[in-house]
Amino acid sequence: MIPKTKETQMPNNHKSTIPDLLNRLFGYDSFRPMQEEIVRHVLGKNHSLVLMPSGAGKSLCYQLPAMVFDGVTIVVSPLISLMKDQVDDLNAKGIPAAFINSSLPEDEYQTIYRAALRVHTRVHTKVLYIAPERLSLSSFRIFLDALSISLIAVDEAHCISEWGHDFRPDYRKLNYIRRKFPDVPCIALTATATKRVQEDILDQLSIPNAERFVASLNRENLTYLVQPKRDPDAALIRLLSQHKEESAIVYCFSRKDTEDLAARLSQAGFPAQAYHAGLDPDERRLTQERFVRDDVPVIVATIAFGMGIDKPDVRLIVHYDLPKSLEGYYQETGRAGRDGLPSECVLFYSPADKERQAHWIYQKDPAEQDRARENLNRMVEYCEQSSCRRAFLLRYFGEEPGEENCRGCDICLGEWEEFDATIIAQKILSAVIRTGEQFGITHVADVLRGSRSKKVIGAGHETLIVYGIARDFSKDDIRNIALQLIDKRLLEKADGQYPTLAVTERGREFLRSGSTLRLMRKNEPADAEEGLRKPPIDYDRGLFEALRELRRMLAEARNVPPYVVFGDASLQEMAHFVPMSKESFARITGVGEAKLEQHADIFLRYIRAYAKNHDLVEKRRPPTDPTRPQAAPGSSYMQTLDLFRQGLSPAEIAARRGLTVGTIVGHLERLAAHGEEIDVRPLIDQDRFHRILQEFERAETPWLSDVKNALGDDYSYEEIRLVRLSLRQDGPDTPREPTSSQS
Ligand code: ADP
Ligand code: ZN
Repeated sequence: MIPKTKETQMPNNHKSTIPDLLNRLFGYDSFRPMQEEIVRHVLGKNHSLVLMPSGAGKSLCYQLPAMVFDGVTIVVSPLISLMKDQVDDLNAKGIPAAFINSSLPEDEYQTIYRAALRVHTRVHTKVLYIAPERLSLSSFRIFLDALSISLIAVDEAHCISEWGHDFRPDYRKLNYIRRKFPDVPCIALTATATKRVQEDILDQLSIPNAERFVASLNRENLTYLVQPKRDPDAALIRLLSQHKEESAIVYCFSRKDTEDLAARLSQAGFPAQAYHAGLDPDERRLTQERFVRDDVPVIVATIAFGMGIDKPDVRLIVHYDLPKSLEGYYQETGRAGRDGLPSECVLFYSPADKERQAHWIYQKDPAEQDRARENLNRMVEYCEQSSCRRAFLLRYFGEEPGEENCRGCDICLGEWEEFDATIIAQKILSAVIRTGEQFGITHVADVLRGSRSKKVIGAGHETLIVYGIARDFSKDDIRNIALQLIDKRLLEKADGQYPTLAVTERGREFLRSGSTLRLMRKNEPADAEEGLRKPPIDYDRGLFEALRELRRMLAEARNVPPYVVFGDASLQEMAHFVPMSKESFARITGVGEAKLEQHADIFLRYIRAYAKNHDLVEKRRPPTDPTRPQAAPGSSYMQTLDLFRQGLSPAEIAARRGLTVGTIVGHLERLAAHGEEIDVRPLIDQDRFHRILQEFERAETPWLSDVKNALGDDYSYEEIRLVRLSLRQDGPDTPREPTSSQS
C-alpha cells in the first residue's frame, strides 16, 4: 500500500505554524480544499501528484512549503511567458523568487545564480522557476550541483507524457534532476491527466510511491449557460454590458470571424481585439499583454488563445460558435474565474452550427472523421440537454456529481420551462408527412411558417394544408422542438450530408392516439438575466471601481499585471468592509505582511476619502466569515459522514435524512475527494465487488454507464459508484513499490 504521510516536521528555526504562514505571506485565512493535506504531505518530504482544476490553488501547494524549507524550491514550468508574472507575484508577497529562461540577458544569469547560492548577496532566493531545456546545459548543471535544493515542483506535469495533450520533449530532461537529487521531495502538478497520463508522470519522474491528490473537476464558481443562437451579436453585447469593464474572452470558429467580430464589437463601444495563430508573434504577445494588464477588456479569439494566459479575473467566456469537443470546451471555460469569484460561461448554440461543423468534418482526413464526429455528437448532446449541464460535464469526465441542483447552470436556474407541446408537435409531424418525408428541418419550418421561399414555392408546398399553420413560432423554436422530437424518437433523421426527416412508428402512434406531450423551452432572456451571478458579497460598486483604478496605476508604475497588486476578491472585500485602520486592512483576504507594508497606506487613504464623500462607515467583520464561499463540504455532507461513521449504510442514511441513495453516495464521493477515509468494503458483497472491479478494469471509456450496461440490471448505479470510490481511494493500479526509491 501507499505509505501514509509521515508526521510533518517543521524545521526548528521556524516558529510559525502553517496557518500562520498562510496568513502572513498570502493573506488567506483558510486553505482551499486539499491544499492543507498536500502542504503537510510535502513538508513531510514525501512525493506527490496533484490533480486539480485550474484556479483551485495548486501553486500554494509548493510555494508555502518553499518558505518552510531551508533550501531552494525549483519549479519547472513550460510557459516562459508566464514566469515573469509568477515571480512578480511572489515577490509582491515578500517571497524571494527568480526565474531562469532564454529570455534573460546573459549578464543576469550570474546575479540569479549568486542569489540562489547565497553568495555575496542579501537576497536568498527561495523559489526558482526554470524552463526544462535549461537542464541540458552544462553550465546550468554545474550551478545545480552546487545548489541546496529542498523541493522540486513540476508544473503542468502532463507535458512529460506523450499520452498527454501537450507533450514537451524537454520535460524528459527532468529525470536528470531526479537522479541527481533522489532524496529531494518532488511534487508534480497538473489540471488535466487521464489515468494513463498519471501513470506516465509517476514513471517518468521515478516517483512510483507518490501520493495522489485528486480534486473534483467541478468549478463551483462558474455558471454554465447555453443560449439559442439567435441574433448572436445583440446577445453578446447584452452579456458584455452586464460585464462592463470586466475581462471577457469570446471564442469563434475561424480567424476571419474573430477579426470581423472584434471590429463589430469595437464599433458598438466594446473595445475588443482579435487573436489567432495567423497574427505575427509580436502582435500576439502585445495583445496578450494588453489583456492581462486590463488595457483591453475583450479578446475575440480562436482556440489558439489561452495557453499562455494566467489571468485570474476573466469573468465571462462566450463561445460564439459551437466548440469541437467537450474537452476543448471545458478547457476554454476553465479560464474563467480562476480567482474563485463568480464567472459565466455562455455558449451560443444553433443546429445550423452543428451542420456547419459536420460539413467541415466531412472534408477531413477519413481516419480522423469518426473521432471528430463522436466529439461533435457529445458536444451537441450537451447543448440539447434538458437536465443539469454541470452534471453532464462531470459525468463525461468520469466524475459523479454530488448535488442534484447545481444552482449554476441554465437548467438548474430554471431558465428553461416545460410547456405543453402537443399541438405544435402534431403540426410538425404532419408537415413532415405532407412534404413526403424528403426534407430537412429548415424546409419543414419554412412551410409551417408560411415562407414564400423559392424552395417552398418550387415544391408547390404553399398549397399544402400545413402551410403557414405555425406562424407564431420562430424558425429556431420549430428547430428546437423538432430536435426534441428526435430525442423522443417521434421523428428520425437520416444521417448523411442532407439529413431528411421522417416520422417514426412511435410518431405515427402519437398522432393517432392524440396523447399529450410536454417539452422544454427557453424562458425569455429578461427572466434569464435575473438569475445570474450574485456576487458573494455585496460591495460598493463605486469604491470598487476607484480601487481598481488605483490598482491599475500602481501596477503600471511597477510594470506588473494589476492582479499582482491585489486580486478582485481583495478589492471587493475592501469595498464591502470599508476598512479604515491598518488592523482591519490586514484582515482583508490577500493582504499578507508584505502587501500590508507596501500598500496599506495608499489604499487606506483612498478608502477614507471615498468613505467620507459617500457617507460610508466601516463594517465589522463577523467572527466566522460568512462571505467566503464555502468550498469545503458543507454541513449536509458532515451529517452524512457522521451517520456513515456510525455504521449506517447509504440506504439507511438516505431514509433517515429523506434524501435519495444517489445523493448520499454523491456525498460520500465528495467527502472522499476531500480526503475523508470512506471504507465501502463492508457495504458490498465480496463477489459482487470483484465482479464490478473487473468491469472497471475492462472498460475502455470513463463512462459509468458503460460499466453499468456491461453488468446489467442486477447491479445498481449506487453500488458501482461505491466500488469506483474505493478504486479512487486506494487505486489498485497504483504501483506498490516499497518506499526505498526515496533513499
Ligand atoms: P492553479 O495553479 O490551480 O490554477 P492558482 O495557484 O493560480 O491556481 O490559484 C488560483 C487563485 O486562487 C489565485 O488567485 C490565488 O491567489 C487564489 N488562492 C489560492 N489559494 C487560496 C486560498 N487558500 N484562499 C484564497 N485564495 C486562494
Ligand atoms: Zn445544473
